[in-house]
Amino acid sequence: MSGKERAMQKGMEMNKDAGKAETMRMEIESRSENEEFARVAAAVFLSRLDPTVEEMDDIKTAVSEAVTNAVIHGYGGGEGTIYIEITICGRTAIVKVRDEGIGIADIEKAMEPMYTSDPSGERSGMGFSFMEAFMDQVSVESEPGRGTTVTMQKTVGR
Ligand code: ATP
Ligand code: MG
Repeated sequence: MSGKERAMQKGMEMNKDAGKAETMRMEIESRSENEEFARVAAAVFLSRLDPTVEEMDDIKTAVSEAVTNAVIHGYGGGEGTIYIEITICGRTAIVKVRDEGIGIADIEKAMEPMYTSDPSGERSGMGFSFMEAFMDQVSVESEPGRGTTVTMQKTVGR
């Protein structure tokens, strides 16, 4: 078999695996009314993972924190689109929440418990800490002026 054929066969095998995964994507306008919609829509899709009530609550809370951050911090309460992508693969859910807002200059600092850039005193700076507590993995990619993507993963039924 040539290198190209081997690569193609590998690609087909990967596709076969990918065939077991299911992805849903949605775009919502950055408004606080849409946070509940995103949470519920995510929950309906995630129900096919057959999670426990607690697992479902954990993922819903994490989605909600990420979407709230996009609305409040990413777009600063102004207009924008939030892109949510959920992939279910076996017993694992991978959730991506992306905005094209202001971005985060210092991701490490932003993720510290109790760090908030909000001067009003209304925020506790615990959103990322909740995401990390409720999900198995959380990673953040961001570029100032370009936006932020939060990717979270959780395997249910452990
Ligand atoms: P809380 O979630 O407890 O209401 P918070 O939103 O400030 O407070 P985190 O969710 O942990 O706390 O976020 C920490 C900080 O990271 C925010 O204060 C903000 O500066 C920054 N941040 C988080 N998400 C985004 C985002 N999507 N775009 C820009 N900045 C963000
Ligand atoms: Mg927050």
